[in-house]
This record gives sequence, C-alpha cells and structure tokens, in this order.
Amino acid sequence: MKHYDVIVVGGGHAGCEAAHAATRMGAITALVTMKRDDLGVMSCNPAIGGLGKGHLVREIDALDGVMGRVADLAGIQFRLLNRRKGPAVQGPRAQIDRSLYKAHMRTEMESLPILDLLEGEVAELLFENSKLVGVGLTDNAAIYGKTVVLTTGTFLGGTVHIGDKRYPAGRMGSKSSIRLAAQIRDLFPRMGRLKTGTPPRLDGKTINWEVLESQPGDDVPTYFSFLTNSTSTEQVSCGITHTNGETHDIIRENLDRSAMYGGHIEGTGPRYCPSIEDKVVRFSDKSSHQVFLEPEGLSTDVVYPNGISTSLPEDVQESYVSTLKGLDNVRIIQPGYAIEYDYCDPTTLSRTLEHRDQEGLFLAGQINGTTGYEEAAAQGLVSGLNAAAKALSKDTVTFLRSDSYIGVMLDDLTTRSVTEPYRMFTSRAEFRLRLRADNADQRLTEFGKLAGCVGEARWTVFAEKKSKLDSAKAIMENKTYSSKELEGFGISVKNDGKKRSTFDLLSFPNIEFPDLLEIQPELSSVEFHVREQIERDAMYANYLVRQERDAEALQRDEQRAIPVDMDYESLSGLSGELRSKLVRVRPASLGQAARIEGMTPAALTLILSVLKRSE
Ligand code: FAD
Repeated sequence: MKHYDVIVVGGGHAGCEAAHAATRMGAITALVTMKRDDLGVMSCNPAIGGLGKGHLVREIDALDGVMGRVADLAGIQFRLLNRRKGPAVQGPRAQIDRSLYKAHMRTEMESLPILDLLEGEVAELLFENSKLVGVGLTDNAAIYGKTVVLTTGTFLGGTVHIGDKRYPAGRMGSKSSIRLAAQIRDLFPRMGRLKTGTPPRLDGKTINWEVLESQPGDDVPTYFSFLTNSTSTEQVSCGITHTNGETHDIIRENLDRSAMYGGHIEGTGPRYCPSIEDKVVRFSDKSSHQVFLEPEGLSTDVVYPNGISTSLPEDVQESYVSTLKGLDNVRIIQPGYAIEYDYCDPTTLSRTLEHRDQEGLFLAGQINGTTGYEEAAAQGLVSGLNAAAKALSKDTVTFLRSDSYIGVMLDDLTTRSVTEPYRMFTSRAEFRLRLRADNADQRLTEFGKLAGCVGEARWTVFAEKKSKLDSAKAIMENKTYSSKELEGFGISVKNDGKKRSTFDLLSFPNIEFPDLLEIQPELSSVEFHVREQIERDAMYANYLVRQERDAEALQRDEQRAIPVDMDYESLSGLSGELRSKLVRVRPASLGQAARIEGMTPAALTLILSVLKRSE
C-alpha cells in the first residue's frame, strides 16, 4: 500500500496550494477531495486580489506558489487598486473567469508527478496508539501518511440558510462534511461556528447594460505573478448600479424573514463584508449602496452582483433585486444564501499551522477562522511547506510579521485568535512600507529557494532581475553630488551640505528616473521595468531605515524562544487572566507573548527573567 509523506484533505484554495507546496519540497503527496471537479472552485466572488489580499497573492507567487499564475491565466479584467496612493498600499486585483480558473488549476495540479489526486470524502482521521497515521474515507478506504493537512473550508458541519430554510451543505450544490466534523469536535474542544454569505447570481442576458455605468480594467494590466508578462485572455468591463429607497424599504419590511435576523444562525459573520440586510440596518442613514455587476466568465452569462449578499427568502430577493437600475427584468439563476460552518480556534495552532495537541496534523484556510481565497491559499502554502518539512525531517519554514503579510496573518491568528472571519487588510501590517506587493519577490524568493520550495525556472527569472537591479543601484550609489553640482544639471534640492546619490534623488517626489540621465548617462541602458522598481524602492528608502531598525528589534524578541512547556501556573505575579491567555496561546517567542491582548510590561519582564534564568 502506498504511504504518503503528506495527505491534503480538500481541493479548494488552501488545499491546492498546500499540495503544490508539499510537492515542491519533494514530499510524496495525496490530495483527497470530494470531487475532482472541486479543484480551484471559487465559492463566492469571481475575483482574486485587492488591498492586502493582492499582497498575499504576490507573496505566494514569490515562493513559487500557484495562485498568482493561475489567476493571470484566467483574468478577464486587471486593475491596480489605490493607483493614486503610494505603492505600499496598492493592491493588484482581477476579475476571474471561474471555469478557466478551475481548468488551469486542474492542469497545474495534474502536471505534478509526485501528487496523487484522489476523489472521496474523508470521514475521520486515523490513529495508531494516539499517533496520527492517515485518514479514513466514507467508503471505508484508508489512506496512510506521515502528516495530514485539513483544508475543509466552509464544508465542516456546513449549513446553508435561505430565509427560514436550512439544510446541510458545504456550499450550494455540495454536501456538508458531517462525519469528519463530529470527530474533530470530539478531538478538539476549542471549535466554534462562523458564517458568511453570497449574493444571488443573475442572468446577464436579462440585465439592461445600456443604462448602466461601465467599469473597464486598466489600460496596462498589472499581473499577479512575477513570471507573467502578457495575457491572451479577452478582457471585459463590469457594470455599476445602486440600491435605492425602494430596495431598502423591501429589505426592512422583511428583516424578520432573513436567516440572519430571524435568529436562525448562531455563527458570527464578517463585519467588513456585510450582507445587504446588515448594510440597510447598520447604515440606515445611507440612501444607496453601490453594486458591481461582475461577469463570471467569457463563456457564461452568469453575473455576480457584488455588494448584495443576503440570507433573505427567494421571493424577497426577487422583489428587491428588480428595484435596482438596469435589473428591472432580471432573472435570478441561483438565490443568495448564508452558510454557517465549524472553525477551529487558531490559537491552538503553532505558526507552522500544526495543531499543538496533535502532532502531524496541520490546518489551513477557512477552517482556521479566515475568509477569502487568498488568505486560504497563503495558509495552504505554509501548511504544505511545513507538513512536508516534518515528513521529510527538514527545518520548519516560518514567517515573521516583519518579512511578509503571510507572517502578519499567521501571527494574528495564532496569537489573537478570531471573533469574526479574518480577512487581510494593509492596515494589519505595521511594516507596510517594507511589505509591498511590488517587492514580494525581493523579500521572499531567496528565502523560498533556501527553504526548498522555489524551482529553477523562477529562480532564473528572479536572479536575472535581481542582478539588473543590483547593478543599476550600484551605478547610482557609486557617486554623490552636492546641491551646487546638481544645480548644474537643472536639479534643485535643499542646500543642507548633504551630498546625494542619484538613488537618493529619486526619493524626492518631483524627480523621476529620466531626470537622472543627464547626470549619469550610463543609466540610459537600464530597462523600463527595472527603472520602475528602483523608483519604488527609492521612494521609501528613507522611511525604511527606521522600519528596518524596528523590524530588527522585533526579530530580536522573536528569536528569544519560549519553551512550549513553559510552566505559567507556577509563575507568581501573573494575573489569572494573563495566565490563562498564556496557557491558551502558548507563545513561541517573547515577541509573540508581547502581542497577546492585555499583555503588560511587568508580565513580560517576569517571563524574560525566567527565560534568562534557564539560559
Ligand atoms: P474551500 O474553498 O471551501 O474548499 C474546501 C474543499 O474541501 C472543497 O474542495 C471540498 O470539497 C473539500 N472538502 C471538505 N470536506 C472534505 C472532506 N471531508 N473530504 C474531502 N474533501 C473535503 N470569501 C470572501 O473573501 N468574501 C466573501 O464574501 C465570501 N463569501 C462566501 C460565501 C459563501 C456562501 C461561501 C461558501 C464562501 C464565501 N467566501 C467568501 C469564502 C471563500 O469561498 C473561502 O474563504 C475560500 O474558498 C476558502 O478556501 P478553503 O480552501 O479554505 O476552502
């Protein structure tokens, strides 16, 4: 019987990325999912990226992951969000053709020689003498492996709600994972319920596009992958419409029929991604809400109305949707619904996403209390790398807040847990000037190469880009000029006695790369994309020096490891509340302990003194 290094359960965004990452590390891997056709299914909106989320996709790509490349192949409209703001908070986003995404993901996964794609429903984890040895399927088959990664998404104990109707499902049209949910609840008491919702799907043929505002993509697309240079996929526009007083009246009159407001759902939903019922109640002073009509693909008429997710009954959905401009005669193809599912308190996980109470078991994606394809994929990557590392006795692969958004998310989840579905925002990252989408490869590709997950093709492209950047920067930093000398080239800077390199000059908002060519004509051979990168790097260079110092201080704290079996009960001087938080989170480092909500300097000093005594 075949014995795997890594078994991944679930073929969603976390599962595909986990399996791909595990094979890049050299692990013999099985991905078992309910249906082979599930690979890369987008349960909700037909879009990838955005602010914070686009950063995650770039980081996954920098580590040779799959999501960015597949999204580029399936992208039907590319936009760089926050284009008018600084590069640190700009996020690439794309409308995606759902079926192209699935097809390209499947091709990608099927091309991996050491991955077996298996169809089946996992009913239980299998143990021998308390040791995790694999998974059992509902048809009684068993799959054996050294490590297991659970990426069950919204399927674990999933219940769909539409008005007062409810039934078990992992998402509409898919069955819920019930037997596995029962075992997981027995094994791990710290489980909870969360919910999320999706809007009705519309028949685009019945939308009056003529009366609607149209939103095209950018003239020059910004791709996710550092390997993509162009697209041959046709590009489309989205439509824009708005809710109005009549829409809100219908929703208000029927609030008691909404699953959410009728009290049928116990789980907590995402505050920042409210249903239309939520918006009408919480923002009652607003007379209108914007709705984007997003085509779901090139070969389908289905349209996703972004902004009106709902758990109202179907008849109410029919009547309020038709009050929106352009939707008077619209046909609803699939009603909107809410889904409630089990999640595991992520503070029970280490930063490698291994469960602290069950060696060899890794969890990634929606099961950890997050929402979103990108958050799921990023965790999939981390769990896949580490499950493989464990199975192959390699070093663990960990990420820090100071090196990546991936590190920010892992630290937030495992230190602070979640009270609602967790989604990435740029505001979560304290080092965001450094953690830009545009420099994800400079931050992470070399790290990934050392960890063993970056292949030759990507390394060659990266090494070439890096060498061009390094040589251009070397030319620029080779010589410095006084303000008087610069005046001779028509460049005026503050006369403060400082001598500046041409790289320094680029940090001035009014100076661009072409302005430097007269000073250093040898820079004229620098390629356009290298110039652009240097401009972005230079813009933040001064601020980065300070952030670099803060990041180093954080890393020093992170390096002061706290033993996993630290006896907090015997530490006198800790408040009862902090003691129970420390026992629950079991921080891996002093830095992580410092970020526990309510942590005090006195408690940190106490922990530090214990650490020093045992050194
Ligand atoms: P999923 O994509 O759910 O994939 C889970 C996979 O596991 C599936 O392939 C399933 O077949 C498989 N699986 C489950 N159990 C088993 C088992 N026992 N055996 C074998 N295979 C199994 N995200 C947002 O960002 N914003 C939103 O507004 C939003 N709304 C949503 C609304 C709805 C109704 C739904 C369903 C999802 C929504 N999402 C939203 C969430 C988004 O779909 C998820 O965050 C993302 O898909 C999570 O990825 P995942 O890989 O963790 O799980």
